[in-house]
Amino acid sequence: MNTVRAVLFDLDETLFDHSHCVAQAVGQLRRDHAGLQSRPLDEILAEHRRLLEIMHLEVLAGRLHPDQARIDRMRGLFSYCGAGISGELAMESAALHRERYRAAQRAVPGAHELLAELRRHGVKIGIVTNNLLDEQKGKLAVCNLDSHIDALVTSEQYGCTKPDPELFRIALRRLGCEAGDAVMVGDSWEVDILGAQNAGIRPVWFNRFELAPPDDSTEQLKALEPAAAAARVILKI
Ligand SMILES: [Mg+2]
Repeated sequence: MNTVRAVLFDLDETLFDHSHCVAQAVGQLRRDHAGLQSRPLDEILAEHRRLLEIMHLEVLAGRLHPDQARIDRMRGLFSYCGAGISGELAMESAALHRERYRAAQRAVPGAHELLAELRRHGVKIGIVTNNLLDEQKGKLAVCNLDSHIDALVTSEQYGCTKPDPELFRIALRRLGCEAGDAVMVGDSWEVDILGAQNAGIRPVWFNRFELAPPDDSTEQLKALEPAAAAARVILKI
């Protein structure tokens, strides 16, 4: 049996609790504006997720500035609820959204302990993420995860995005590890699981919201804690 030498992680929604931050920020926005109370919070969050997915790709491609994307998302949420929003309110809401998102930043429960446990087993840790370098560095620092990370590989630095196998190969090169000795852990089936498979890396699907798996042959992790149990699934020990 192969010994795992490196574990690659996705960051957003895998180690970093992005959906918690969005729920806090959008929840407060909805409490502040009666116009947003025509729809339940979970529907507004689903619409936010949909808008973010589209706009994030535009931001990564350099076609949309992150600040403008945030303003457009605020406009999108108001219009989804049938409420009007002035240009001034859209800008103000976008700034507040960013502030509240940042104030709510936290790691996914168990992330810190799992990384420490994996390092005790002598494996290197890499992050492979479709996002901006400064943004991701900031999240790792705020969540106190940065001391566990051997390589942070962002799509912004290398101009390619998951599921392109090249981004995974860059991470492996930086860690001095072959694909067959690595594991990739991520929450997105399309991006993390299929991308890892394309690069010849064994994937582990982090499925904390208990979605239906597209296939039954990929290993799943439903929580990062307890650390010893999660490490057993990742390292196959
Ligand atoms: Mg993710």
